[in-house]
Amino acid sequence: MKTIGILGGMSAESTQIYYRELCRLTRERLGGLHSPELLIRSLDFAAIEALQMKGDWDAAGAILNREAKALERGGAEVLVLATNTMHKLAGQMMDGVNIPFLHIADATAAAINAKELKKPGLMATAFTMEQSFYTSRLVEAGLEPVIPEDEDRRATHRIIYDELCQGITTAQSEAAYIAIAERLVERGADCLILGCTEVGMLLNQSNVSVPVFDTTMVHCEAALNFALSDAQ
Ligand code: GLU
Repeated sequence: MKTIGILGGMSAESTQIYYRELCRLTRERLGGLHSPELLIRSLDFAAIEALQMKGDWDAAGAILNREAKALERGGAEVLVLATNTMHKLAGQMMDGVNIPFLHIADATAAAINAKELKKPGLMATAFTMEQSFYTSRLVEAGLEPVIPEDEDRRATHRIIYDELCQGITTAQSEAAYIAIAERLVERGADCLILGCTEVGMLLNQSNVSVPVFDTTMVHCEAALNFALSDAQ
């Protein structure tokens, strides 16, 4: 089994889900006392969020690059970046890093294509929904993402930063997220991407009417598949 390097803490709430789910999936696949070989580097999200707000993506990318190199030196054989948003900086992060990188959008697109679905609604941070670094990869994979309207994008983004990343889940925000998801379905979405690694704290297959692709879960499965494969 290869060692998976997780660059996380963005936020710490979802990095805990990565750890829990990778352990659960490994036990499910290998049984007994098996657990995944992991290196987890968890950053202080307050510092990263401040750079996002300032638009200082270059400084954030330099931090990701430094930490990816540290994970490689530490023995990681494959890297996952445990946030959709920071995939904006995937290129800079992997500059000079020689181990494979499992892109969260590519893994998600592959999972959607495997189910022959076409028009995923996308609930994520404003960065992920509004800039092209993420949606362009979905389009390249043959998908037609449906993005929430203005007000719904603002609410989705606010709940991520003000609540979910701080470990807060409320019935009110769950209802708001369900309503946003259903408006995407009304506009033609045939499935839903939980395109932020915390959105699964409120939405899942039991409260959404179309197939749900939780990027955290998809990413964990892709990472474990890779770790257990012969791929280099
Ligand atoms: N975890 C989130 C994501 O998947 C948002 C936090 C961040 O900006 O990294 O996009």
